[in-house]
Amino acid sequence: MGVTGTDKREIAWKRARELRERIEPYLKARENIETGFKLEEIYKENKARIMEYFNANEEQWEDWQWQVQNRISDVAILKELLHLSKEEEEEIAKVGEKYRWAVSPYYLSLMEPDNPRCPVRMQGIPSIKEIQDTWGDQDPMAEEYTSPAPRITRRYGDRLIINVTNQCAMFCRHCQRRRNIGEVDAPAPMKEIQEAIGYIRENSEIRDVLLTGGDPLTLSDSWIDWILSELDAIPHVEIKRIGSRTPVTMPQRITQELCDMLEKHHPLYLNTHFNHPKEVSKDALRATRRLAKAGIPLGNQAVLLKGINNDPHVMKKLNHELLKIYVRPYYIFHAKPVRGTTHFVTTVQEGMEIMEHLRGYTSGLAIPWYIINAPEGHGKTPIAPQYLVSMGKDYVLIRNWEGKVFKYPNGFSN
Ligand SMILES: *Cc1c(COP(=O)(O)O)cnc(C)c1O
Repeated sequence: MGVTGTDKREIAWKRARELRERIEPYLKARENIETGFKLEEIYKENKARIMEYFNANEEQWEDWQWQVQNRISDVAILKELLHLSKEEEEEIAKVGEKYRWAVSPYYLSLMEPDNPRCPVRMQGIPSIKEIQDTWGDQDPMAEEYTSPAPRITRRYGDRLIINVTNQCAMFCRHCQRRRNIGEVDAPAPMKEIQEAIGYIRENSEIRDVLLTGGDPLTLSDSWIDWILSELDAIPHVEIKRIGSRTPVTMPQRITQELCDMLEKHHPLYLNTHFNHPKEVSKDALRATRRLAKAGIPLGNQAVLLKGINNDPHVMKKLNHELLKIYVRPYYIFHAKPVRGTTHFVTTVQEGMEIMEHLRGYTSGLAIPWYIINAPEGHGKTPIAPQYLVSMGKDYVLIRNWEGKVFKYPNGFSN
C-alpha cells in the first residue's frame, strides 16, 4: 500500500512537533537572557545619570571625542556612577597600579550599577584576579617573533595585520594585547606606519591587510583615510579589513562622515567584537546600519569568556541579535592564556558544547567558527564537533546534528 498525501502531511506534522521540542530548552532559556533591546529603557536611565554627573548635553554624549576624553579610569569617579563595595574600590585601585583600565561613558551606561556579575561590567571593570594570575604568559602568541617590520604581525602567507595604535574606547579586561596598552594613548608614529606599508609594497603575495590595535577607529578620519589610501595604491592588496570594537564600546564613533570616507576604500571589511546580547543596543544598531549602508560587510569575533558568555543559550542568543543588526558571526575565540586574564579562560570542552548546540539548532548564518590560536603564533585552528564518524573505502559514516548516524557512499566508482 502506498503512502497517501494525508499520511505524508501527518508525518510532517509529527516531525515538526519533534523539531520544536528539540529547541524547547532554548526557547525557555531565552526568556531570561537580557538583551540590549530589552534593556533600552534602563540604558536610557543610566545614560541620564552619567550625563548628569558629567554635566554633559546630548550633543557631547554623541560626540565620540567627548566619549574618549571622558573615559572613566579613576575609582573615585567610578564609585559615583556604579555601586562599589569598599573592598571592590580598594581592589580596583590596586589592579589599576599594574594594569591600565578605562571605560567610555557609553559602555558604562550598559552596565548594571548594582551587579558585579553583569557581563558588561565584567568586561570593563578590573578584578583582583588580574593581579593574582600566575599561570598566564605576557605574550603567548609570541607576536614579537612574528613581526618582520614595525607594527606588523605576519602569521600567514597571504595576509597580515598592522597594529596602528594602542588606544581603545574601553580596555577590555580580557585583552590579549594588554602588554601593549601601556600607560598612555600612543598612536603609531607615521614613520613606522610608512615602514609597515613599505613592507607590504615589497611583498607581492600580501593580498589582505588588517588594521588592528588597540582600536584603529580611535584614530582620526583623516589619518585612517591616509592609511587606507596608501594601501589602495598597492596593486596586490586586494582587500582591507578593520578590526574595531567601537560599534560595541563607543558606537558614536561610527559617524556618517566616517562611513562616507570608508566607502571610498572598497573592498573594505570590518570585524567587531560583541560578546554578550546585552551589548547589542539600539545605538549599536545605528552604527552597524550605517556601516552596512556604506557597503561594508560586518563580522563578529567573540571571545569565549567564563562568567560572561560560556553558555550555549547565551551564545546562540548573541548570534541571533547580531544577525538582526547585519553582523555575521565569524569567530568564537577560545580565550588565550594571557597574563592577567586567565580567570576568564574556559575549558575547550565548553566551547565544543556551544558549537554542538548551534549546528542544526539554528541558522547556518548564526554559526561562527570556534578557534583556538595555536601557541606562539602558529595560526588559528578550527575546533569542531566531529560529524564524520568513520571513513571507509566505499562508505563513510556521518552523524547529523541530532546524533543520528547514517551510512553514506564515499563517492561513486564508475
Ligand atoms: C587573525 C589573524 C589574521 C586573519 O585571520 P583570518 O582567519 O583570515 O581572519 C591575519 N593575521 C594575523 C597575524 C592574525 O592574527
